[in-house]
Amino acid sequence: METIKVNFENRIDMEWIEQGAEIIKRGGVVAFPTETVYGLGADALNQDAVKKIFEAKGRPQDNPLIIHVADADLSAFAQEIPGKAQELMDKFWPGPLTLILKKTDLIPMETSAGLDTVGIRMPSNETAMLLIRASGCPIAAPSANISGKPSPTNFRRCVEDLDGRVDMIIGDGSSIVGLESTIVDYSVHPPRLLRPGYITYDDLLTVDHEIVYDEAMTRADEKEIPKAPGMKYRHYAPKAPLTIITGNEGKVEKRILALAENYQNQGKVVGVLAPKEREKMYNKENIRFISLGSEKNSSEIARNLFEGLRTFDDLNVDVILAEGFSEKGVGVAIMNRLKKASGFNIIEV
Ligand code: AMP
Ligand code: MG
Repeated sequence: METIKVNFENRIDMEWIEQGAEIIKRGGVVAFPTETVYGLGADALNQDAVKKIFEAKGRPQDNPLIIHVADADLSAFAQEIPGKAQELMDKFWPGPLTLILKKTDLIPMETSAGLDTVGIRMPSNETAMLLIRASGCPIAAPSANISGKPSPTNFRRCVEDLDGRVDMIIGDGSSIVGLESTIVDYSVHPPRLLRPGYITYDDLLTVDHEIVYDEAMTRADEKEIPKAPGMKYRHYAPKAPLTIITGNEGKVEKRILALAENYQNQGKVVGVLAPKEREKMYNKENIRFISLGSEKNSSEIARNLFEGLRTFDDLNVDVILAEGFSEKGVGVAIMNRLKKASGFNIIEV
């Protein structure tokens, strides 16, 4: 398949947006930027179009898709909107927050992966909003990567994964949040935080104190239970196995350096992922060091996380050692993704 590729440099070109919208209306698939990560979009109400998303991603069809809207009137898609869900929408939309609601029959089973609920979000990225408006339908969009890889947060990574597999790829710089949306399930009571994101649990509690979050829940996914030793399901994962080292600051560094030396003695190329404060410590001849930014700035770490993981693929490292980040605020979401990328391979020191 010939993929049309356009990357907006300084300003959005409406002609290309219109062309993308035409493709969506015809039942095609278009990758586009959002503030969280790049999305792989199709008409959420067209079951044949939605099937093409799963094909392009190589994604299991039992994984439901989030629909992206440009209008806050959800009456066509959701049976009921609880008052607190509405308040969250009023406060955080457009933005990186997805709400799970009981769906109407208009949403095909392909989109919801057989569930009677649907995840809905209004993105704040301008290109995304213009594309949804011009398409005249909600756009179902998972992250625009091949299933299992870290999500793309820029045009180049989308092209790397999807060139030749989709009708069009639109780019407009890097995703400013860099992590997938926060997801809250309002089809159950009390409502549940299903996936932490840039909008934190504390942010949510300011609107609805009933929301519950059980971190172990995000791990209780049976796909993540190792099927055999050394064979874990990993999500958001770079090619090389990743180990998180967490705990007491001085000890973490010592352990990472000791492990690195061990691997090097075995002839392995070692990558280290840590905040830029530790650059001097790790930036040694034999270590491929990637800094995600300052540990004082968790938004910066979040924004750079997936690109950092994908850069290790480019560097052809054999193993990755990552410092754990503080699990406060956005740090909860950062560590959630990092733990999944490691297959929950964590050393506490
Ligand atoms: P994304 O990874 O951003 O494409 O979001 C897709 C994820 O959102 C899925 O893997 C689910 O974890 C979650 N999700 C989407 N729709 C639903 C739903 N109806 N019920 C529960 N979780 C959902
Ligand atoms: Mg994804």
